[in-house]
Amino acid sequence: MIQFDIITIFPDIFDSYFKESFLKKAQDKKLIKIKIHDLRKWAKDSHRTVDDKPFGGGFGMVMKVEPIFKAAKELRKKDSKVILFSPRGKKFNQKQASDFSKIKHIIMVCGRYEGIDERVAKKIADFNLSIGDYVLMGGEIPAMTIIETVTRLIPKALGKEGFLKERVVKKGFIEQEQYTRPEVFEPKKGEKWKVPKVLLSGDHKKIQDWHKKHSKIVEN
Ligand code: SAH
Repeated sequence: MIQFDIITIFPDIFDSYFKESFLKKAQDKKLIKIKIHDLRKWAKDSHRTVDDKPFGGGFGMVMKVEPIFKAAKELRKKDSKVILFSPRGKKFNQKQASDFSKIKHIIMVCGRYEGIDERVAKKIADFNLSIGDYVLMGGEIPAMTIIETVTRLIPKALGKEGFLKERVVKKGFIEQEQYTRPEVFEPKKGEKWKVPKVLLSGDHKKIQDWHKKHSKIVEN
């Protein structure tokens, strides 16, 4: 079982997402466990402050180091890894997801505001991760991304283990072009969107060759 602990100031964001589909099933099957923690629980003052103005001036607020330090200290177990989300972090990819699927306990720190006191990245986090070259408003979507990509790699989470192996290649993974019924779709009179004939031929060798030609290897 992999346990995910999420530290966030918006714990309710995750409510429906983790209660649907295969992530729900993975929790029911005890393949994963997800715990969501409100960072404010570790804030010491009566206002439960988790942010402050940046030293040296500048725009916006910065998340403080102390509450995150306390949270990580309380949640960390012997083999835990702490992930901090930052648009400046190392870019997450399928290879990294595969490596994470071998870790037993993943703690994720979701930033908000202008970012997080750099001491969290330097002294607390084991990984600084970006999920892509764009800026989100917080680390909550990145946390969902990690949980989803990692969980689908756990044997039995999808109920079709062979499928995962088939999609993995040395340099990355393969994504195919796919079609389903109807064979011909008419969006308007006189226009026909057809499924490639070879896929309807029943000739397995030809179909395989076609798939090879029309799939993309995503390298990472
Ligand atoms: N100016 C800030 C932007 C912070 S966005 C900076 O460059 O650091 C607020 C939070 O959202 C970040 O602390 C981070 O936790 C999260 N976040 C935003 N974009 C992200 C991305 N592409 N990948 C991972 N986390 C991201």
